[in-house]
Parts: sequence; C-alpha cells; structure tokens
Amino acid sequence: MDLLINFAYIVASILFIFGIKMLGSADTARRGNQISSLGMLIAVVAVLLTSGMNYTWIIAGLAIGAVIGAVTAKRVQMTGMPELVALFNGFGGLASLLVGWAEYAARPEPSAETGAAVILAILIGGITFTGSLIAYLKLSGKMGGNATLFGGQKALNALIALAIVGLGFVFVTTHAPWALYALIALSLLLGVLAVIPIGGGDMPVVIAILNSFSGLAASAAGFVIQNNVLIVAGCLVGASGLILSIIMCKAMNRTLGNVLFGSFGAATGNTGQAVEGEMKAATAEDAYYVLEAAQSVVFVPGYGMAVAQAQHAVKELAQILESNGAEVRFAIHPVAGRMPGHMNVLLAEADVPYEQLAEMDDVNPIMSTVDVAIVIGANDVVNPAAVEDESSPIYGMPIIKVYEAKTVYALKRGQGAGFSGLVNTLFFRENTRMLYGDAKDTITTLVTQFKD
Ligand code: NDP
Repeated sequence: MDLLINFAYIVASILFIFGIKMLGSADTARRGNQISSLGMLIAVVAVLLTSGMNYTWIIAGLAIGAVIGAVTAKRVQMTGMPELVALFNGFGGLASLLVGWAEYAARPEPSAETGAAVILAILIGGITFTGSLIAYLKLSGKMGGNATLFGGQKALNALIALAIVGLGFVFVTTHAPWALYALIALSLLLGVLAVIPIGGGDMPVVIAILNSFSGLAASAAGFVIQNNVLIVAGCLVGASGLILSIIMCKAMNRTLGNVLFGSFGAATGNTGQAVEGEMKAATAEDAYYVLEAAQSVVFVPGYGMAVAQAQHAVKELAQILESNGAEVRFAIHPVAGRMPGHMNVLLAEADVPYEQLAEMDDVNPIMSTVDVAIVIGANDVVNPAAVEDESSPIYGMPIIKVYEAKTVYALKRGQGAGFSGLVNTLFFRENTRMLYGDAKDTITTLVTQFKD
C-alpha cells in the first residue's frame, strides 16, 4: 500500500508541475488549472488511503471547507481577486501552524529534525497568517492603505526575529511548551509588524511573497508529518511565488527590498524633469474621424480601465475597428493595473480573442508603424520618462512605447497621476490628444459615433 501511495504522490507532483507550466500561457491556462486540480485530487485520495485516519473529522472539515470555498469563489468580483488570494494564503499559513502545533501535542519530545520542522511550520505559517490578514484588510479598504510607520520599527522587528531564533533553540533543546507558545505569539506579531509599513499599492507584490511563504510553511509541515507530496507541493508554491514576486519587481524596476522596506516615490520626493508643452484635449468626434481612417490600432489598457469597467465597451470598439479594416491589438504591460494578469483577466472576461493580445516586447518594435494608440486609463506603464529622463524615479522601468505611434489618444478623467504619483510627459506630446472622462463613457461615445 505504501508503494502505491508514494506512486500516487509522484503522479500528483508531475501533474502539478505540468499544470503550473501550462498556466504560463493564456490559451493553456484553463487546462493547466484542471490538470493541477486532478493532481490535487489524486494526492488527497492517496492521503485518505493512509492507515490510521479519523474519517469523521476529515469529512467534516472537507465539507465545511468546500462549502465556504465554493461560495466565496463564486461570489468574488474579478477586482476582489487579490484580497481573496491573500485570505487563501493566510489560511494556508494557519493550517501549517496548526499542523506543527498538533504534532507537538501528539509527540511532545520530538527529534531535533522534527523539532526544527515544527518551528519552521509555526514561524512561517504564523507570519503568513497575520501578514495576509493585514494585506487583505488593506486591499479591501477595511484598513487604511497608507504605510504605518513608527520610530524604531525596523529595530523592533529585528529584535523579535532574534527572540524567535533564541526561542527556537530553546524549544529544540528542551521541548519546553512555553517556548513554543511564545514562538507562536511572536510569529503572529511579526506578520502584522512586517506588513503594516508597506503601502496598499504594493500589496499585490506582498501577496505574491506571502503566497511563496505559505508554500514554504506547507513544505515544513510536510517534513513534520513526513508527507512527501506536501513537501513537493509546498516547494512548488514557494518557488513559483518567489519567481512571480521577482517578475513583478523587475517590471516595476524595483528591488524586492525596496518594496518590502522602502516607501515608493515619497521616499525621494523626486518627480523627474519639469515638463514643457501643454495637454491638448480632443473630442470623441475628432477621435472618430482619425480612427475611421486608421489601418492599425493598438489599445493599451491600464488601471483606469479596471476602475471604469470599460472592458466590454472596449471589445465592442475593437470589433467595429476590425470590421472597418483596421488591424487591432491589445498591448499588455506586465504590471498594468493592480495585480498580476489584471488586464488579461478583464479582457478575457470580455472575450477578447487571445490572438489580439500582444506582450510589451512584441508590440514595442512595431509601435512606430501603428496609426493610433488608444491608452485606456494607463499612465505609469506608458510614461516616456522611464526611457528618457534619468532623474525620474521610474527611469529604467520597461514601458509600452505608445509615444512612437503616429497618433495617441489618452483616456482619463482629468489630471490624476498614476500609482507612482509622477507627471506623465506622454500627455504633453505633439502627437497625443486627451479624451477626458470616464473611460467607459468615452469608449461608448466612440462606439455610438461609428454606429450613427
Ligand atoms: P496607473 O496607476 O499608472 O494610472 C491609472 C490612471 O487611470 C490614472 O492616471 C487615472 O487618471 C486613470 N483613471 C482612473 N480611473 C479612471 C476612469 N474611471 N476612467 C479613465 N481613467 C481612469 O495605471 P497603470 O496600469 O498604467 O500602471 C499600474 C501601476 O501600478 C504601475 O506603477 C505599477 O508599478 C503599479 N503596480 C502594479 C501592480 C500589478 O501587479 N499590476 C502591483 C503593484 C503596483 P485620472 O485620475 O485622471 O482619471
């Protein structure tokens, strides 16, 4: 039976790996999710076949968890996804903490290796749990999004980390219960203190990191209960969460350290060079005449498209332009919006065909041949200061070079800055025209112009 169970674990692990690989492309992502889920089903069934299980508790837990999970996932709005992921990570961390604690309750004299694994499961699980709850509260607006700073904060965190190391040593050598309880309390406190100084805007990166932590905590729990598939799955989550965090940081031209320990923009007070020229407003009617004659159009969606929920109207306009003979593309910046894949999710919701989606690196080389670029509530991800102004805080951040297109229409409500708080020189360019107003209203007006 043991052989069979371990074989099932290997099959499950292989399915996890293929599933994650398939999540890398939009057209295989759905299948990838199904394959990973199948792997999870196999892993769960294999665990249930292990002898000595208390099925009553397991079935009760499964039933309650499944109902809560299904209802929440069904109810959540697409824009609320980051908060939900934060909560899921948090409960994953709590589960690992409880596994570590339960193991100690069952066997109060663990070996040094198991004792160390118990401490890691509790420490990482505890930080993940409370850190994720703070991330959830900040993202859902139930707690202010601003960074909470106080004097001696970093020193206090360092002190707590040191105390945790000391308590861990005491626990492994003496198995004293008080050391374990103190460790649980300090881990939970450290999770709160580590996340409150990070601004709400950086929460998506924090969530990716906490996701990675929840995987590591699960892996430690796997060592505690000697479950191979939990160790493998935890490592996969840990590694993929870390890779995602690094990709996000690179796309924002920041380091992980800067996200976790710095406060963006406000820290330097540097807003880059002064801008010359003026922003020129246009009407939807002006834009209609130009779009009517355009042979190639690139849409660049940003956070404002999500705020306006303009994706369905945008898709309709894209269809009209295509049937009018234009080649239409959607250029997606990796950190457009406020969560990884934010724009892909919204455009998929509106059924925009995958073939029309283009990555930044594919669209930039052809941008100078594009007749019209339509910037829908994007700002930082199209700011030319990132390539032209060495004094700008976003200098070096890869951007979609819409300023190279023949004509640019920028849709936004007013003079509001983007996430970075910087002035965008694009809006002052000769070839840029501003279409002021809510993005959905503006696009709907354009659609009406074409229909009339
Ligand atoms: P930005 O945040 O730079 O800009 C959004 C723009 O949308 C604003 O300038 C705003 O201008 C406009 N806007 C807001 N509401 C509407 C509306 N209803 N209709 C029309 N326009 C609207 O967005 P980007 O997507 O360009 O950039 C994302 C930023 O977020 C980057 O700086 C990135 O580093 C950061 N970030 C991204 C993460 C991710 O995972 N994607 C994670 C963390 C940070 P106005 O007020 O004038 O309307």
